Amino acid sequence: MEKSIAVIRGDGIGPEIIEEALRALDAVERRFGHSFNTSEVLMGGAAIDAVGNPLPDETLTVCLASDAVLLGAVGGPKWESLPGDQRPEKGLLGIRKGMGLFANLRPARLLPALADASPLRAEICAAGIDFLVVRELIGGIYFGEHKTTGAPGSRQAIDVMAYGEAEIRRILHVAFQSARVRRSKVCSVDKANVLDTSRLWRAVAEEVAKEYPDVAFENMLVDNAAMQLVRNPGQFDVMVTENMFGDILSDEASMITGSIGMIPSASLGENGPGLYEPIHGSAPDIAGTGKANPVGTILSVAMMLRYSLGMPAEADTVEAAVDTALAAGARTADTAKPGETVLTCRQMGEKIAQLIQEV
Ligand code: NAD
Repeated sequence: MEKSIAVIRGDGIGPEIIEEALRALDAVERRFGHSFNTSEVLMGGAAIDAVGNPLPDETLTVCLASDAVLLGAVGGPKWESLPGDQRPEKGLLGIRKGMGLFANLRPARLLPALADASPLRAEICAAGIDFLVVRELIGGIYFGEHKTTGAPGSRQAIDVMAYGEAEIRRILHVAFQSARVRRSKVCSVDKANVLDTSRLWRAVAEEVAKEYPDVAFENMLVDNAAMQLVRNPGQFDVMVTENMFGDILSDEASMITGSIGMIPSASLGENGPGLYEPIHGSAPDIAGTGKANPVGTILSVAMMLRYSLGMPAEADTVEAAVDTALAAGARTADTAKPGETVLTCRQMGEKIAQLIQEV
């Protein structure tokens, strides 16, 4: 098969981790006889430096015309003093909105080889942690009106949280369809005891659940969900929630599975291409040192193969190569225990690429 992929290296460790993701993609190309045509485009700090705009029009055009988009990470101290609307992260919000990416999928899976890296007790980890957070990405309070009024001493701030039925319904469908290819359980998280948006969310979730009688369904209040994630994460298969709750819970989920450098994500729209990136930022503190863990980005390639390129066997192969490398003791600085051999970003990428040819 022939597929087109837009590639955004970004800032900080972005170029280093993308290099290893492209090495993995190359290995998939060779093993399965596909042809991936990549087009490199600019976003974030690199785009500000080159053309003075964190999201050049050309970038969005190329991304929308591709089968999928692969992104490293953007941002860094160099651009932090710029006004909000000119900062690298503005490019990130802009591309999500511009591509209509309403569904953010973040798998949280504790690999047995890395159980030591989880802050949870061993008996909790032993039950297994393997769930998917499905977060609504372009609605809710982050995209509502934000306003501060009044003089110092009597200032008042307001952030508007709004959800329409259609927005809720489409993300619930993504959750139920994802559950069907996993362990067929959906937990919808809300704050229906307080918020109207949550009461509507719950009503729509219950309607959508009726369309999937083969999938077990439950509602959970967000405060309880935050607690259950550390008490008994093994109970979850697919967790679906609105933008802000998802932002918070998915970071909690990444923490309990070990290093932030290991977790991939997919952002999907109604049709069109999806965007795939690790969940971490540009890690300026380790950029250029070879310490970056490329696994989250390589696993993002696996998600891209599965969700946007229709290549599930290829995705399984990439994931198996990562599992095999880790089970054999391959570690970058963030996951190595004292005394263990530490691989550089490139060495880890080369090891996984080699295994993609063999597993
Ligand atoms: P960060 O995720 O970049 O780093 C947090 C910590 O995790 C750092 O100690 C870093 O060294 C470590 N880390 C992150 N990724 C790693 C990897 N692959 N391997 C090993 N260690 C890793 O978060 P931050 O420091 O708060 O933000 C840095 C910059 O990234 C900021 O400009 C921020 O706005 C931006 N950011 C971008 C994105 C994105 O592009 N999607 C997401 C979050 C933050």
